[in-house]
Amino acid sequence: SVSPSPPAIRVRPLTCTETRRGDRQVVHSLGDGTVHVSAARHDATFGFSAVFDAGASQEAVFEGSGMRQLVELAIDGFSCTVFAFGQTGSGKTYTLMGPLAQSETRPAAPGLLGLMQRSFACLLEQSRSRSSDLALSASYLEIYNEQVRDLLSPGPPCALPLRWSKTRGFYVENQLSVDFESLEAIADLLLQARSQTQGLGHCCGPRGRDEAGQSITPPTRVPQPGACPSKQGTLCFVDLAGSERVKETGSSGELSVEANNINRSLLALGHCISLLAKPRGKRTHIPYRDSKLTRLLARSLGGSGITLMVACISPSSHCLSETLSTLHYASRARRVTTRP
Ligand code: ADP
Ligand code: MG
Repeated sequence: SVSPSPPAIRVRPLTCTETRRGDRQVVHSLGDGTVHVSAARHDATFGFSAVFDAGASQEAVFEGSGMRQLVELAIDGFSCTVFAFGQTGSGKTYTLMGPLAQSETRPAAPGLLGLMQRSFACLLEQSRSRSSDLALSASYLEIYNEQVRDLLSPGPPCALPLRWSKTRGFYVENQLSVDFESLEAIADLLLQARSQTQGLGHCCGPRGRDEAGQSITPPTRVPQPGACPSKQGTLCFVDLAGSERVKETGSSGELSVEANNINRSLLALGHCISLLAKPRGKRTHIPYRDSKLTRLLARSLGGSGITLMVACISPSSHCLSETLSTLHYASRARRVTTRP
């Protein structure tokens, strides 16, 4: 039995805006896997397996979070899931995918590539060195207003049904999956799809459309040479919606529907995680069916999957309460164990 890695914490640097505004830095990494939060009425220390502070490079996060081992487990046939959570603007997308390209002809610097691209590179390297029949394919989904949308299908994203079967568990019907053999091909594809999520009614700032949905990106199937289909590993990246939206009230119309849906799925996820954190003998029924998000994540959270969680936080005094709630959420997630 393999335990999932406890959450890793990433503290991003203060942004220009925060610095200009004169925000204080209230989060400090003490260097021994602990995060210290100190502000006027708060003084708390949290312990984790890995803490990355503002100076940590994308490469350091890849190597230090256990991501490389997770890629190897996926190749060995396990279902592996990485999920990034934290409030909007805390660095989830940056950690998973890196910064956006400055323009089509000026992609982001290779050193800034996120966990996803690094994992794909690692998968491709392994598939070459094993000179095997490893076939890689990717899919890209988004949950928006409790609809599962396929971001790889051409044209406007279409909603797909989420079904359950005895043999497969929860699965998305007619989900598009694309074979890939080079890093450029897969990176281009995903960046295109990513720009599609931001394209619809998108504006800069905390209401950016991409933060509204949860992107589930992409279960990468890794069949073993000559093995039975059940030995297909998967590697799934989940960019969760900003956790602060859970408390949003007073928003009207479409935005309130959106906030409610995000609310529902993040609460459902938190609920499943806290039930899973109970000792095995004391566990009751785990309500995966409460949201599309928890249904999609059921396998990785509960049963047979291996999960890597990255909690992203801002060091700014302005984000104090969200930071504390992210750290508490992460501490709870720490106790979940699975038997892949
Ligand atoms: P989220 O996806 O959680 O809403 P983003 O990943 O979009 O947050 O990050 C918000 C901003 O902070 C972006 O401008 C991003 O480039 C910047 N940022 C986040 N993490 C880092 C980091 N570790 N180093 C430098 N800039 C970062
Ligand atoms: Mg984001």
